[in-house]
Amino acid sequence: MKKIFGSLLFIFLMLVFSNASFSWGVWGHQHINRAAVFALPMPMRAFFFDHIDFITVEASIPDVRKYAINDRNEPPRHFIDMEAYGDHPFETLPDTWDSAKAKYGEKMLIKNGILPWYIPEILDKLTAAFKDHDKVSMLFLAADLAHYIGDAYVPLHTSLNYNGQLTGQKGIHALWESLIPELFGMNYNLHTKSAIYIKDPVQYTWDIIRESHRLVPAVLTTEKKLLDTWPKDSIYETDSQGNIIKNKYHEARFTDNFAKTYSEAMHGMEEHQMQLAIQSVADFWYTAWMNAGRPDLSKLDDTYTHQINRKPLKYQYRLWESKGKLTGSKPESEY
Ligand SMILES: [Zn+2]
Repeated sequence: MKKIFGSLLFIFLMLVFSNASFSWGVWGHQHINRAAVFALPMPMRAFFFDHIDFITVEASIPDVRKYAINDRNEPPRHFIDMEAYGDHPFETLPDTWDSAKAKYGEKMLIKNGILPWYIPEILDKLTAAFKDHDKVSMLFLAADLAHYIGDAYVPLHTSLNYNGQLTGQKGIHALWESLIPELFGMNYNLHTKSAIYIKDPVQYTWDIIRESHRLVPAVLTTEKKLLDTWPKDSIYETDSQGNIIKNKYHEARFTDNFAKTYSEAMHGMEEHQMQLAIQSVADFWYTAWMNAGRPDLSKLDDTYTHQINRKPLKYQYRLWESKGKLTGSKPESEY
């Protein structure tokens, strides 16, 4: 318990002091991880619920590694710039890491992001942790894997123009994945189907990337139209002197009204991407457990822990199932 509390405190401090992070904001990642617990079948759901606060808070740690810890291996794991591979990247880019490395060389792959190859790698590690009954690794890897899956559902994580920097739309990244979910996420329905076994995780991962990348033009052009037609002082927040206010990413802060109009013009794309991410996270966790031979997780925690969590699990599961809502995670606004 002391160990877990120490880890949570460390994570909290890192989140408070971490710098900019391009990836679903803390709100998005935490809600994806938390909701995915309820999409698991029993008895997995009971085990994950015993550790749901850890799974929730750990959701943004891979981003913390990028900035606060300055782990150089970390940044390429969060994206892939599909445009770097020509006009038909999904046809030319090999599905597996070894084939891609043989074709393009490791340097080129790392420069343009390794997200689709990294997800199956962490899945294998999580499967091994389940096989070994290694509870600490299971929880860390499950939360990590969920983060990268979440990133794969953000269209701008699949594009060279990831922050609109090539089209005069700097700031769109945080607008899409941080400000909009923070402002309107409480209205999202986060209910999904129960976890489904993934027969081909490599193919499944590439399907996510393909679908996310397909959404990139809509993400960009919808905002561009608004930027071109709205008066500047309605797009960005200004102080009493008329100076544009910056957000924590040192970019001009969009007004809530602009964010609302943009969000409505995308017809609930963020909510839908979040729902798909939650479903996929549960699918991957379930697949790792199945491939590990369905180990008994009930003995990994004491009876007391199970007992005190029984009622809250029942209540929170019903809330998620009937209304698509979560309790217990109230991260600070970061935008
Ligand atoms: Zn990320």
